[in-house]
Amino acid sequence: MDDCIFCKIVKGEIPSIKIYEDKHVFAFMDINPVSEGHALVIPKIHVENLWKIPEATLSAVHSASKTIVHAMTMAMGPVSVAAVQLNGRGVNQVVMHYHLHLIPRASDGEALKLTAWEMIPGDMDAINRTGAAIAAAIEND
Ligand code: AMP
Ligand code: ZN
Repeated sequence: MDDCIFCKIVKGEIPSIKIYEDKHVFAFMDINPVSEGHALVIPKIHVENLWKIPEATLSAVHSASKTIVHAMTMAMGPVSVAAVQLNGRGVNQVVMHYHLHLIPRASDGEALKLTAWEMIPGDMDAINRTGAAIAAAIEND
């Protein structure tokens, strides 16, 4: 896609700090890192989100992410890693080209705010209702 910043990165039209590349996948460092080591794993084809990504491409992205998290441990020492992926402007997807964030936290690193949500028990009736609606939609698809 001509005006997509991540397509331009894949094509080398704008610079990036590349850490991994294969036939289907490209990975590079995020320039607004949430933590040291924050990287992005993207498909080479332009595809917007989880609804649209072909299964084989999704699988290639996640398989590459496994290689990369292993490498993060080798390069940075022990880390925990949040794998985060946003779909749609409503949850703050800014770049509309599918990407998986890999956000490591070193063992002596600061806690990641995005993973520190409070556990507040939900309304079990509402949870049951919504769960049943999603399961039925899967069944009837
Ligand atoms: P989001 O769409 O909210 O999941 O996040 C998009 C991410 O892309 C942000 O974390 C940005 O910092 C990152 N980003 C945007 N442009 C670039 C770029 N040219 N190189 C590296 N990372 C980028
Ligand atoms: Zn794109």
